Amino acid sequence: PTSPLSQPGDAPASAALLERARAVTPGGVNSPVRAFRAVGGTPRFMASGRGPWLTDVDGREYVDLVCSWGPMILGHAHPAVLEAVRDAAGRGFSFGTPSENEVLLAEEIVDRVGPVDRVRLVSSGTEATMSAIRLARGFTGRSLVVKFAGHYHGHVDSLLVSAGSGLATFALPDSAGVPAEMAAETIVVPYNDVPALEAVFAARGGEIACVITEAAAGNMGVVPPQPGFTQALRRVTAEHGALLVSDEVMTGFRVGRAGWWGHEGVDVAPDLMTFGKVMGGGFPAAAFGGRADVMALLAPDGPVYQAGTLSGNPVATAAGLATLRACDDALYARLGEVARAIADAASAALSDAGVPHRVQWAGSMFSVFFREGEVRTYDDARAQDAAAFGRFFHAMLDAGVYLPPSAFESWFVSGAHDDAAVERVVAALPAAARAAA
Ligand code: PLP
Repeated sequence: PTSPLSQPGDAPASAALLERARAVTPGGVNSPVRAFRAVGGTPRFMASGRGPWLTDVDGREYVDLVCSWGPMILGHAHPAVLEAVRDAAGRGFSFGTPSENEVLLAEEIVDRVGPVDRVRLVSSGTEATMSAIRLARGFTGRSLVVKFAGHYHGHVDSLLVSAGSGLATFALPDSAGVPAEMAAETIVVPYNDVPALEAVFAARGGEIACVITEAAAGNMGVVPPQPGFTQALRRVTAEHGALLVSDEVMTGFRVGRAGWWGHEGVDVAPDLMTFGKVMGGGFPAAAFGGRADVMALLAPDGPVYQAGTLSGNPVATAAGLATLRACDDALYARLGEVARAIADAASAALSDAGVPHRVQWAGSMFSVFFREGEVRTYDDARAQDAAAFGRFFHAMLDAGVYLPPSAFESWFVSGAHDDAAVERVVAALPAAARAAA
């Protein structure tokens, strides 16, 4: 624990639930970052969410700057999404047959994202990246995958090598239980380093099925590609007959109508793309898609197998469709304004308190690194003062602002973050910055 303000006595109902949870669930949580291990203290069990607000089981309210790690782009329990979900659920929960909403959601994605000719729906971002990689291997007949240090693509064995956030937080280079043979199929290259990528392709280009990249990295904090980096990925992969897989699980429909692709003139067309988070509107829906000739290899038409009992679930697709339909230019403009107001206030407060920091952006996604100077690589991201972030986090939490409980994460805002929510955040910042100093 890093703050007297976040002791169990401060959140008694959460503390009691955590104790019960630990007796039946490892660490008491169903995804590691929720356990507050990086910042200490008692994780808050949330009871409800409305608009930009979360309410915990002790009845305390927080402005939510996590937004379920991205999906809640319209805020919690948005009326249009709630109505769509109620309507869909009232007509049955899952059929195991094709249903109309799957078609509508796929059409919406194909319409928004230029490089996607065909799309297949799955239930999580992990499934999307896992399936895209199988497809890239099936298409090329090669097995090696290139990924970048600090990029996270879900907990797929072959991609759980030098991943970002969770692993940076736990300072583990890798996960136990991933066979060495599996890890050996993955080559990890420093992010934003074109010569290193070229060297790998010069040595083993003929064996590489694909390069997978976060379109703009968000899982080591926000680290956008340097100018020309994405173009270099496209050029090098094409020269060697490898596919380029752009992971937009986090950025997709979050940083713009399509995602990082199409955002501020990004026009490099990947061969395959992955999506999740926003496109499920808070329900388990994700997707991978891309070139028609590559996607044609998927079962039932082709030899690359991929399936799912709940894929294209009617309730999840209804939530995703209602969410995407509300993601218009006005929403993205509002997200940008809110994010800018919060980031500017955070930066001013940290400067006043003399705390070295750096704010980096991808669309309205931003993160505050507790270090000076540009962050371009995973090593840069790791060289920050995580203890200072922990003190900052707990002071914000105590003032009713829920930040990501790790220094290696993006902050997310929603269209429901109104002036009252922004004012609560801005008011909390000076004291939190002094706590971090
Ligand atoms: N890819 C990226 C870029 C992500 O940010 C994430 C999750 O944070 C994933 C893949 C995995 O998605 P999921 O947690 O839905 O399996």
